[in-house]
Amino acid sequence: MKQEADHHLEVLLTRDQIQARVTQLAEEITRDYSGAGELVLVAVLRGSVYFAVDLSRRLNLPFILDFIGISSYAGASPSRGIVRITKDLESNIVHKNVLLLEDIVDTGLTLNYLIQNLKTRNPSSLRVCAFLDMPARRIVNIPVDYYGFSLPDLYVVGYGLDYHERYRNLEVVAALKDPK
Ligand code: 5GP
Repeated sequence: MKQEADHHLEVLLTRDQIQARVTQLAEEITRDYSGAGELVLVAVLRGSVYFAVDLSRRLNLPFILDFIGISSYAGASPSRGIVRITKDLESNIVHKNVLLLEDIVDTGLTLNYLIQNLKTRNPSSLRVCAFLDMPARRIVNIPVDYYGFSLPDLYVVGYGLDYHERYRNLEVVAALKDPK
């Protein structure tokens, strides 16, 4: 697969595979939280937006959709997991069931930071739902309660995931073969 003749992309997950899996996840989450009151879905900007939209549309539950924006500190090594909140939640999550929606759990450092941060706000529960899991690259062992697909150690794009802001809008997930 070629896009704008720049990078070689190899499709790993098709649109149909992604959509079928997101439906299954939504059914599982609906079952697990039914009768538990209003759920707060916290989508991590910007990569998880496509996943959050598709998943939330299929939930049969009362929920609030909220967003949290993060970025690495300028100059800090990404491997240290020092991130900064660039857009905070609008909702108060005290005594709420919170489900964090992430595009990909790679080293786990970003999510680890976010979990620690959100826990200080005393939600009644906090779980993680990641579209992709890349366990081979994990540095911090964080619990991923729900995940869409587990992938080997590759750089992937599409379905919200970018390479220098490109490819987010692909409906498939593809490995970027020759990043440049
Ligand atoms: P972490 O390594 O902290 O688990 O992942 C942090 C963030 O890096 C993810 O939320 C995602 O935005 C980005 N990331 C990690 N692996 C990949 C990848 O394979 N492709 C893309 N496009 N982004 C990634």
